[in-house]
Amino acid sequence: MVDTTRRAIEILETLVGFDTTSHLSNLEMIDYIVDYLDGHGVSSTLVPAPDEPKSSLFASIGWKPGSPGGVALSAHTDVVPVVGQDWATDPFKMVEKDGRLYGRGTCDMKGFLAASLAMVPNFVARDLSQPIHLAYSYDEELGCSGVVPMAERLGVDLPKPDITIVGEPTLMRPVDAHKSIHAYETIVTGFEFHSSMPDSGVNAISYGLKFVDILADFNRRLKKKGDASGRFNPGWSTVHVGEIRGGTALNIVPKTCWIHWEIRGLPDEDVPALVAEIEDRAARELAPQMQAVAAGTGIITQPTVSICTLRPEPGSPAEILVKRLARSNDVAAVSYGTEAGVFQTCGIPTMVCGPGSIDQAHKPNEFLAVSEMEKCVGFLTRLGDELQR
Ligand SMILES: [Zn+2]
Repeated sequence: MVDTTRRAIEILETLVGFDTTSHLSNLEMIDYIVDYLDGHGVSSTLVPAPDEPKSSLFASIGWKPGSPGGVALSAHTDVVPVVGQDWATDPFKMVEKDGRLYGRGTCDMKGFLAASLAMVPNFVARDLSQPIHLAYSYDEELGCSGVVPMAERLGVDLPKPDITIVGEPTLMRPVDAHKSIHAYETIVTGFEFHSSMPDSGVNAISYGLKFVDILADFNRRLKKKGDASGRFNPGWSTVHVGEIRGGTALNIVPKTCWIHWEIRGLPDEDVPALVAEIEDRAARELAPQMQAVAAGTGIITQPTVSICTLRPEPGSPAEILVKRLARSNDVAAVSYGTEAGVFQTCGIPTMVCGPGSIDQAHKPNEFLAVSEMEKCVGFLTRLGDELQR
């Protein structure tokens, strides 16, 4: 296990060296993985992005036609940008210091990916009663969109796993639930006028702020409603405004205001219904006032990102397996989104469990503790033991 952990750390160092920030290609890293797997006699199926130099990779160990579904290990290859972050070291050169592995993606989530690759020789050497699949995606950080074309092929021309384990950072604790993320952009169209006569124009920024007030109102309402399960922190479906832009100059009544906002919904929250209500309120309370001054004004909201929730499935085969492998009876819920909901939507029982803490993800000086890598290798070794014939 010590050797496998060391191997995983070496692989992680290589993976961190590929700058796979979401807007860039991941193909160099995918080529490396294809070669590595090939070296262990494992062939890969690539699921390329339709219009970008990016690809997902699916590979199976111990699978043949008629095999049971087995277990898929899921990871994303992309990482968030380092732009504007103050790093003490080069984010794309992994540095090991004081039992920590520093570098972009070490924790989110090339660490799990590296551990799964380091385990390949171990998995290959076993007589597995069920296959182990590797499912590596792209564009996870852009809204879990890259995994979808691969997930759609599971059970079609790729084997459909019985269980998926998504290795996002949970400190190796089993996670069976997370919120959904629904992001929207709202465009407020006003009417330009000389700022000396503000009442002759329709101020898009002012109406944008009124729209933000409506959002705040919904957030208060949802906070009051709370979380019946008592498992989430914060314990309600949150409404959050992240970006707002508007206006061109001080002496012009602004014509446009753009607002980027999101709802992170509890598993049982009907977010599209909420958004319909928000739009309805804007249409009833704000649009008539705007249109009384100038035709063609109004408020339009469009979805930008949608990440489905992970619904808890107590007693599912995924939950039973992951609790056993993690040696934990506790199952947690988290507030960040993952690809787990995509696999669950495909009818595959899915849990999240991976090395590192989400507290280190997306930040400068991101790191993965070596002890977490050890725990992950232990977890994956027990998976091999479990599936050994
Ligand atoms: Zn991630």
